Amino acid sequence: MSDRSSELFARACACIPGGVNSPVRACHNVDSEPLFIREAHGSHIVDADGRDYVDFVLSWGPMLLGHDEPTVTRAIREAAARGTSYGAPCAAEVELAEAVIDAMPSLESTRMVNSGTEATMSALRLARGITKRNKVLKFIGCYHGHADPFLAAAGSGVATFSIPGTPGVPEAVVRDTLLAPYNDLEAVKAAFEAHGDDIAAVIVEPVAANMGLVLPKEGFLEGLRDCTRNHGALLIFDEVITGFRAAFGGAQARFGIDPDLTTFGKVIGGGLPVGAFGGKTTYMDHVAPKGEVYQAGTLSGNPLAMAAGLATLRLLKMKDYDALEAKTRAFATQMRDILASQGVPVHVPTIASMFCIFFSENPVMNFADAQACDHDLFTSFYKQMREQGIFMAPSGFETGMVSFAHCDNDFEKALDAARKVRF
Ligand SMILES: *Cc1c(COP(=O)(O)O)cnc(C)c1O
Repeated sequence: MSDRSSELFARACACIPGGVNSPVRACHNVDSEPLFIREAHGSHIVDADGRDYVDFVLSWGPMLLGHDEPTVTRAIREAAARGTSYGAPCAAEVELAEAVIDAMPSLESTRMVNSGTEATMSALRLARGITKRNKVLKFIGCYHGHADPFLAAAGSGVATFSIPGTPGVPEAVVRDTLLAPYNDLEAVKAAFEAHGDDIAAVIVEPVAANMGLVLPKEGFLEGLRDCTRNHGALLIFDEVITGFRAAFGGAQARFGIDPDLTTFGKVIGGGLPVGAFGGKTTYMDHVAPKGEVYQAGTLSGNPLAMAAGLATLRLLKMKDYDALEAKTRAFATQMRDILASQGVPVHVPTIASMFCIFFSENPVMNFADAQACDHDLFTSFYKQMREQGIFMAPSGFETGMVSFAHCDNDFEKALDAARKVRF
């Protein structure tokens, strides 16, 4: 049997670092080579050899409606025929901004960018500009894109200065990044006691979905809200994954928290490159040209990406999120029971249309717990599921995604495959 993916990967490795344009895709973690994808429709993707898979990656989150959703695809096609970028304002930017503000309880004003990374780096610059402070507190194992200040390594103690997590990030930059374990309010309080008058912002994934899936403990997000407010720091919700997924109104609607700034990506663009940051007008008025904090983008708000985002949000607004959550929960529960019956330690946390398979004796509450999972078991599971036509994220530190296009057959196929896995 020919293997187009292997052929393409060999060629890719000669002209792209590691053969991929984003590292986790390389499948190193699971001792595999990437599948090259030819096309995707609904809940399914097809690889370069024509093999079909049920997709639980969904481009790492954006495709909440499924791939090639007809209304979204039509909107993109029609927009493309009118030109793809003007470098001048267009109506679709206003409409998307209005739609995002309408959906998100805390938002009064928003600026479009081209990725989640741009959104978080811009939100942090804004928080620093407003507060005239330098430091940011982030949580170990949370991911906020690849901008320098967020690439601080785990491992140093709470409220101690961190070290760069990657070569190329100057120590001077991450010196201002404070780290705390997820779900650890005491560590946050200690950081504020030590550095409170220089902390510009706390940034958090309100549901942590980049160390596997870790839910916030009761009171954790409320505690962050109180702590930041008491110390004059801004609370930034990074809703790049949870926005329009944890609920249509994001995690902020789901948990009833009022963050100062919020960042978006993934679902907001319906599969095209869109990010956004926003918040109260009093904060957003500091952004240029209204204010003094500079931020810009040649392709920001381009009509093609806006059309995809707008069509996506308009459809999502009418969807039954509760029904999708119930389906996802039923799937996760069955998956856990099947794997547990095979004698492996397993936890399958789930919320909204997200789930994650942790091979662990104990529930995972933070990054250290996630690291302590049995990643060899995950690798074995991943490979056997893929051989049976189930496409999962190629790492135990990622979150499984379900779309409105997933049907009972898709879940059954995945559960059947899990029944056949041998550890
Ligand atoms: C994916 C992600 C980002 C980065 O978004 P990109 O579009 O990949 O730059 C930031 N924050 C969170 C929570 C994410 O999941």
